[in-house]
Amino acid sequence: MVWTRLKYFNKNENWGNPDEMNGLLLITLDEIRDRCNNPIVVHCAYKQTGHSEKSKHYTGDAVDFHVCNMSLRDTYNIIIEVLENFQIVDKTGLGIYLDWNSQGFHLDLRPQRGRWGRIEGEYVGIDLVLSQI
Ligand SMILES: [Zn+2]
Repeated sequence: MVWTRLKYFNKNENWGNPDEMNGLLLITLDEIRDRCNNPIVVHCAYKQTGHSEKSKHYTGDAVDFHVCNMSLRDTYNIIIEVLENFQIVDKTGLGIYLDWNSQGFHLDLRPQRGRWGRIEGEYVGIDLVLSQI
């Protein structure tokens, strides 16, 4: 149902199982895409294996992605802006991954705020990553 409301994404992208995806997460990503005015590449979303225990990917509440043609810093600023507008700053997990082949973000919906980064396989505070991008 939510798919018809999206401007930029369709079920054929790399969602794993599009019917398992959280609608609010998709609408949030669609808004991020709109504000960035650049294509978003979805790395993965719904998955049944391969992530950490209790991963939000297992319930369709998480998406990994990067925005083309934009710095991580500019993308981060827009993500935060959208989370504030949607009033979900404290209901999201956001990770910045510098060690992916295509550096990018993990975004998920959860009961409380979570922020982190990963550099060369090590989980670090998001402030450290923000100081490097
Ligand atoms: Zn992820």
